[in-house]
Amino acid sequence: MAKDYYNILGIEKGASKEEVKKAFHKMAHKYHPDKKDGDEAKFKEVNEAYQVLSDDQKRARYDQFGSADGASQGGFGGFDANGFDFSQFSQDGGFGFDMGDIFGEMFGGGRGRTRRGNDLQTTINVSFKESIFGIEKEIRVTKPSPCTTCKGSGAQSGTELHTCGDCNGKGVVKKVQRTILGSIATTQVCDRCHGTGKIPKTPCSSCKGVGIVTEPRTIKVAVPAGIAHGETLRLSGMGEAIVGGTPGDLYVHITVTPHKTITRDRTDLFVDQRIKLTDALLGATYTIETLDGMEAIEIPSGTRVGDTVVLKGKGVPGHNGKRGNFVVKLSITLPEKISKKAREIIEDLKKEGV
Ligand code: ZN
Repeated sequence: MAKDYYNILGIEKGASKEEVKKAFHKMAHKYHPDKKDGDEAKFKEVNEAYQVLSDDQKRARYDQFGSADGASQGGFGGFDANGFDFSQFSQDGGFGFDMGDIFGEMFGGGRGRTRRGNDLQTTINVSFKESIFGIEKEIRVTKPSPCTTCKGSGAQSGTELHTCGDCNGKGVVKKVQRTILGSIATTQVCDRCHGTGKIPKTPCSSCKGVGIVTEPRTIKVAVPAGIAHGETLRLSGMGEAIVGGTPGDLYVHITVTPHKTITRDRTDLFVDQRIKLTDALLGATYTIETLDGMEAIEIPSGTRVGDTVVLKGKGVPGHNGKRGNFVVKLSITLPEKISKKAREIIEDLKKEGV
């Protein structure tokens, strides 16, 4: 109901406070219901108009909407000039909106709507090679999970859910707490439906209607290629499941068993390879074990201790999917004993100035 309060009091828009007051007295007297030719409906309107126009703040807000008709056309979602009417406040004995909801939000009771299960954690071990190339592992975790029979609804298959009578389907109930600040209304998750607002007509036989069961579950963990020892994977929603809330996450800590010969530094792999003195001098072909299998490497003639042979793209996959290098670090094994013949040859080499 949109009304033109200025029109009701018979005044101009720019009327002063004094003029508003005068007009009110005049009109109130005219329409007073106790009078013979009084008009109760008109009297109420006059009262309503005065309550808005005599209050600076309310009048300013009313003026912002233009005429009362303009206010409803302006699309304020049903918030017309009546919204300022004090009489309405006293009728409800409140403020025209739900205090419980507001306090529920303020004091945390409203958190019930976004309740979340606990995060859980576990550790799995992978081999060095699995950490480089990635692997899908299956783990067994005993935790509260949504019931597979009813998919978490708690209702026997084919039966319906009906609205919870305790909270009328809201999932929350109001509780009034007495504090030193006075009574504070909070909203709490409904004990009966656990915040879902629904109760199964026929409870699921597997979970007794709860929708959640605690039992061992097999969970597939996709361990990504290139994962390092000590890294953690987060499996969203695979933590503790709760009734009427979102499940927590499952954190999977990764340990990597070291390789017997190969070590890692970021996306590069390293291996030590000893070669014979003569191979270092003359050059040779060696076969070494990489994570991709056996690979032949060429040792150039004149190789020195600490020289490396690099196998490009045989290392660890990086974030861009590109693999690093496999680096063979060479060292030279010197003969512990040399035969008489070998000594003669080396003496000759010495004469050559080698
Ligand atoms: Zn069930």
